[in-house]
Amino acid sequence: MPYPDMDDFLIIGGGIAGTSAAARLAAHGRVTLLEAETALGYHASGRSAALFEPTYGKPATVALNRASFDFHATEAGGFLSPRGLLMVGGAEEAPAFDADVAAMHMERIPVEEARALVPILNPATVAFAATHAEAWDIDTDRLLQHFARIARGNGRILTGAPVTAIRRTAAGWAVTAAGADHEARVLVNAAGAWADRIATLAGIAPIGLTPMRRSMARIPAPGGHDVSRWPMIFGAGESWYAKPDAGRLIVSPAEEDPQEPHDAWADDMVLAEGLARYEARVTEPVTRVESSWAGLRTFAPDRCLVLGPDPLDPAFVWCAGQGGYGFQTSPAASALVAARIIGAVPDLPPGVVAALAPDRFRQGIG
Ligand SMILES: Cc1cc2nc3c(=O)[nH]c(=O)nc-3n(C[C@H](O)[C@H](O)[C@H](O)COP(=O)(O)OP(=O)(O)OC[C@H]3O[C@@H](n4cnc5c(N)ncnc54)[C@H](O)[C@@H]3O)c2cc1C
Repeated sequence: MPYPDMDDFLIIGGGIAGTSAAARLAAHGRVTLLEAETALGYHASGRSAALFEPTYGKPATVALNRASFDFHATEAGGFLSPRGLLMVGGAEEAPAFDADVAAMHMERIPVEEARALVPILNPATVAFAATHAEAWDIDTDRLLQHFARIARGNGRILTGAPVTAIRRTAAGWAVTAAGADHEARVLVNAAGAWADRIATLAGIAPIGLTPMRRSMARIPAPGGHDVSRWPMIFGAGESWYAKPDAGRLIVSPAEEDPQEPHDAWADDMVLAEGLARYEARVTEPVTRVESSWAGLRTFAPDRCLVLGPDPLDPAFVWCAGQGGYGFQTSPAASALVAARIIGAVPDLPPGVVAALAPDRFRQGIG
């Protein structure tokens, strides 16, 4: 044995992607997860809207959403609680509203009915409304910790361990993090916004991932209403959204501004414009922003996740490009990554597996 202390799987990134992959792989060998920050879930995974919306995303993402539902609903007592969706649009937004209603299989309702759900909707500016019940809050903290606990059952999670060097060895990979060396047969790249940089560090061609900022503001409950049972409210064309959160509303401009990987923060101007779009559809003004933040949603060029071994080197495995779907897809995405690594038949149709495989960016190789 050239490396007696060698792990089976090294995972870079302690967001939901890396932690869920670590949990799945722990059933098949010893794992070490390396996270640069001092806690799991510090970046995108600590900044999400925590929604499970099965129809959200491209077809391959929707397949992952649907394949994840049972896990979210039943594992460890379930991670979901009912939320529901309400889409609203102004008279000038008819094309965007119609497209959303069709894509998300929503049911049109009269504006008065929508106002019974969310009494602050402004009848003077909301011309269309549609709902569907199939949307849930995810207990994202508990989900992340659940996966982390399983991973620790057959391995280690090391925080404060930024990976600074990656070297190919005869048996696999040697990785340097915080002055220590780690070796494993297989390297899983779950570095979120930094995933292309990790590939470059390993001598693997990047995919062309784009981190995109999305900002969020927390505001007091409008007009002192009890918002706890309100649905999540989307402006047509995903031009803004608002969601109840611990007795308050979180409101997002729903922007997608390309950024370099970094510790993201909310852009004041973008936030103000988004809050104005929200305010235009409601009767209660925004009196105060209690806090704001932003996260990077990282997309592959075709906006589908990138899951599986790289044909350039199958010991380098991608678990990246989670975009705006990283939590809701995590049960099925992590299971797919593990299946691809151990050579098991994935629990998804072959067309979906192919639509998610890194091979789609490596035409002409092989
Ligand atoms: C505002 C907002 C709303 C969202 N809403 C939803 C939603 O409702 N539902 C949903 O499912 N998804 C949602 N998302 C998307 C979801 O949050 C992401 O898809 C998911 O968190 C991505 O997880 P990740 O593990 O890939 O990335 P991250 O959580 O960013 O984790 C990557 C980790 O890699 C680490 N890393 C990077 N480089 C190194 C290195 N060199 N060494 C060691 N570690 C490294 C980073 O420190 C980071 O912790 C939302 C995102 C945002 C920003």
